[in-house]
Formats: sequence, C-alpha cells, structure tokens
Amino acid sequence: MFPYSTIGRFHLGLSRNEYSCVETVRYYLTQIEKNSRLNAFTAVYSAESLEKAARLDEKRKRGEPLKRLHGVIIAIKDVICYRDHPVTAASKILERFTSLYSATVVERLLEEDAIIIGSCNCDEFAMGSTNENSAYGRVLNALDETKVPGGSSGGSAVAVQAGMCMAALGSDTGGSVRQPADFCGILGFKPTYGAISRYGLVAYASSFDQIGILANSTEDISLLFDVMNGSDEYDSTALPGKISAFPLQVDAKKKYRIAYFRDALDHRSLDVEIGRALTATLEELKTAGHLVEAVDFSLIDYVVPAYYVLTTAEASSNLGRYDGIRFGLRADPEKPIENIAAFYNRNRSKGFGTEVKRRIMLGTFVLSAGYYDAYYRKAQQVRRMLVESTNQLFRDYDAIILPTCPSTAFPLGDNTNDPVAVYLADIFTVFANLCGLPAISLPFFKHSNGMPFGLQVMTNKKDDVTLLQLAAYLIENNKSRKMTGLI
Ligand code: GLN
Repeated sequence: MFPYSTIGRFHLGLSRNEYSCVETVRYYLTQIEKNSRLNAFTAVYSAESLEKAARLDEKRKRGEPLKRLHGVIIAIKDVICYRDHPVTAASKILERFTSLYSATVVERLLEEDAIIIGSCNCDEFAMGSTNENSAYGRVLNALDETKVPGGSSGGSAVAVQAGMCMAALGSDTGGSVRQPADFCGILGFKPTYGAISRYGLVAYASSFDQIGILANSTEDISLLFDVMNGSDEYDSTALPGKISAFPLQVDAKKKYRIAYFRDALDHRSLDVEIGRALTATLEELKTAGHLVEAVDFSLIDYVVPAYYVLTTAEASSNLGRYDGIRFGLRADPEKPIENIAAFYNRNRSKGFGTEVKRRIMLGTFVLSAGYYDAYYRKAQQVRRMLVESTNQLFRDYDAIILPTCPSTAFPLGDNTNDPVAVYLADIFTVFANLCGLPAISLPFFKHSNGMPFGLQVMTNKKDDVTLLQLAAYLIENNKSRKMTGLI
C-alpha cells in the first residue's frame, strides 16, 4: 500500500479497499518503532490512533461519505496543545504538563477525521536551528545520521522525511518549518502571518509565530492549509475570512514576475554550490518566459540582528508565565520558600535549558530602560523599513526566489559553542517572518556532499494561493527538465 504519495491517492486506495485505516495506522506505528533511534517523537498515541482508525473503518462500512482528512496520519510539533495529551515544548519546565484544551488547528484537523499519531521533538520553546536544544535529546537526520535535521521543528521534519506520518505541523518564527524541510529534503510551508490561528500554540515571539506544514507535495499542503486556515474567535491576530486553497488551480502558461536578491546570491555566507543551483534555476525561468530580475536588498545584514532583538524581547515576556505557580516545574517542592524571587529563580533555573535562558536574558536586556532605544526601538525601525521596501517590491513582482539556507545540514555538535554562528544561518528565512509573508521551501537539489537543499519562494501577504500555485508549477517544471532535483 505504501510508499505514500498524496492524501488523494491514499483516499482512492481506501475507497477501493486496498487497505483500511487500521492497517494504515499499524503501518505508521511500525515505521515509528523502526525509526525510534532518530528520536523524532516525544509522545506516540498508539492505542487511541488504532481506536480512531477502527471507528473510521466502521464509518466507511456504513457508507458514510469520507471527510476531507479521513484517516490522514498527522504528527504535531510538541508546542501545539492537544487536549488531555502532553505538551512539553521540549522543555523540562513543562515536564508532565497536560493540555487542558486543543489548539484550533487540532480541532480543525480532527473535525475532518485526521488521526494525530504523536507529538514531535523540537528545540526547547522552538528556539534553535538544529534540534539540539531539546530536553528530550537531539533528533537525527534520516538521510545522514551524523547531521542535524534542522530546527526548531526537526522532529516534525524527520517524521515526514522517514515516512512516520503523512504530514506534520511545525511552527515557524524565523524559519523553523522551512529550514528543517530544507535540511531533510521535503516541503515546508509557512503561511502568511495570521492565516492560521495560533490559539493553543505555545508562544515564542508572538508577532512572528506562525503554524506551518511539512509534507511531501503541494497538493497535501494546499488541502491541509485549506482545512486549517481562517478566522478564529479565540485568536484576535488571526486574519478575518478564509483563503480557499484547494484544489489548487495551476495555470502552466502563466508568466510570473519574479525578483531575486542580488545581495543574497552574492552573500559571503552562501555555499557556492547552492548559489550556482539557484542561479541556474533563475536562468531557466527566464528562458521559460518569466520576468526574472535582480533587486537590491541592502538591508540583508540587518535582518538577523533585528530578528534576534525583537524575538528575544517577546520571548522574555512570553516565557514569564513559567514560574512554578501559573505554569511549570516546581523545583524542590519540600524546600521552604524563602521569598518569591528566590522561588522563581529556583524553578526557572532548573526548568529552562541554556539557550532559552540566554534568550530570556538577551530579551530582558534589550528591553531594559537604558538600552531600549539602542536595541529594541532600532530593531523595530529596521522591521518597518523592511516592510515598506517589501510592499514596494510587490507592486512590481509576484514572487521572490531565494535560497532557504546558506548551507546544507550541519554536522551534529558542530556549533554547540557558537550560538551566533547558528543565528547567522537564519539569514534567508527570518525576512519572511519580519514582514509576515508566506514562504515555502521546495526540495529541488542535491549537494555534492550528498545532502539535499531547497529553493525558497515568497509572495505578498495573503497571497498564499499564488505561492502554492507557483510552487506547484516549479515542481512540475523541475520534474520535466530532470534537473538535479530530488522530487
Ligand atoms: N532558528 C530560529 C530561532 O532560533 C527560528 C526558530 C523558529 O522559527 N521557531 O529563533
């Protein structure tokens, strides 16, 4: 019955009785078991997934029409709340915490009869790019187990990469869906800021956070996006209305106006082979009749500093709730409480990992009275300039193409002592979050070092459908030309 291709094909097989939902869940549970050394999951919901599958099989027997995600096996990043299930954000501070309610995305998936098979490992509180900052241990890249899978949604990416689910949810604050997708050779889609409700998502930096999808095809992504997007009375930042994304209408004859950043392709941090592959693709698009033009992006070296000033500031506030009273671990419960500050200190020192502590301190610093103007306000100004120049750009172009990451997956442990080196590698992804743009990473290339890498596409805010259409077109094009592509 497998390898799995798309939800559409899976449903066809179900309707022809090629397999049942119970068999499908069994298959995926076996895959999860076989790949347990990759450490992609923090929790697997075996018994209830089998029960749900049996109920769905019954439903089909009774002749009930299939709902849109009938029996579709989904994994969720362990920062998304699922009622009566653990949510840990890969942190010790939330050890043994159980969700009291489900995130809107979870409700919407379940409403369409999806099966949530487990929660995926990630960097603690979604802070990181390697999945090495997890209280539950690092995740391995299934293509090369000496390499990181990327982060922070590393577990979600590996769950899709190694065939342990059909699709997975991640969260993307600065690239955490696209970068692990790039490192693992799959698709990673971050929608427009606010397109998908974040009710029930553990907050990292609220003006950046967005739930995204890791999958194997634009077809699956557009269906899942269609199911999950839309306004939500529980999230005031969710955009009003709904974006209809399924089925995707792809016009093979449409000519796009595409911009690329010269400053990105010439950037000193960009791997030469990645630069060459991107340039060749842009040339091909030009030959195919699209308008492809270089635009200057002189602010490029400010995006990472602006991102880290603003996100750490927001994180320092968001993570204030983990104090051992409202939420979180209570360290040494038998010890008497001397005073409230010491009590918080004890809980937070024990509960948070090194990277999270570093970011809380950084964020508190940039917000402090003496430094607010020098850092926080400056970073806000950079953000405003980026948004304005992007609005201008989308008057003339439909999309921007750029690399997803400057390099392929890093070796495990490579940058453990150099957080700034890891931050700088976010250079091509944080831009979309600073401006709230939708963006996708497409797994087109294979490096001579054997690892995959992607091409990143962005469109204007709320233009997620154009983004997915262009992505589908590029994939088709990539297939027919038999480039170095993986898909
Ligand atoms: N690597 C980035 C960071 O560490 C992105 C994280 C994310 O998108 N959640 O902040």
